[in-house]
Amino acid sequence: MTQGNPTEIVEIKATKHIALIAHDSRKKDMIDWCGEHKAELNKHFLYGTGTTAKLISEAHELPIRGLKSGPLGGDQQIGSLIVEGEIDMMIFFWDPMSMHPHDPDVKALLRIATLYNIPIATNRSSADFLLTSHHMNTAYPRKIINFDAYLKRHI
Ligand code: PGA
Repeated sequence: MTQGNPTEIVEIKATKHIALIAHDSRKKDMIDWCGEHKAELNKHFLYGTGTTAKLISEAHELPIRGLKSGPLGGDQQIGSLIVEGEIDMMIFFWDPMSMHPHDPDVKALLRIATLYNIPIATNRSSADFLLTSHHMNTAYPRKIINFDAYLKRHI
C-alpha cells in the first residue's frame, strides 16, 4: 500500500515524550519495569492512561501526565497526541489473553502508532531493547509517509 510513497522526516528529539499504558493484568509488570528503568525514564516526558499513570507515579514518584483511563477514552487520547506529534514512543503492555471493552480503541491506537512510525514496545523484552537503544539519547529522524498524493486523489 505504501510502497514507493515519498517520505518526510519528523525529528524525535533527544528528550522523548513517552506514553506508558498497561492493561490490568500487566500493570504489575509495568510498575516493576518502570522501577528498573527509573533513571532513564526520569530524563524524558512521560504520559500514561489514568490508572497506569497513577500507579507509576505512586510507586516511583516519576512525573507523569495522566490522561483518562483507557476504557474511558485514554487510549484514544494517546492516539490523538501521536497524530498531533506530541508523543514520540509508546510502551504498551497489553494483555493478549483477555477481551476488553475497549478492544477497538487498542486496535486503533496500535494502527495510528504504526502509521506514524512511532517506536512501540508491547512486551517487557521489547521495552528493554527500546529503552536501552542508543537512539534514546540522541535525536532520531523518524520517517513518515507523505500522503500528499493520497489527499489529492480524484474521487
Ligand atoms: P488504565 O488504562 O491505565 O486507565 O487502566 C489502560 C487500558 O486499559 O488501556
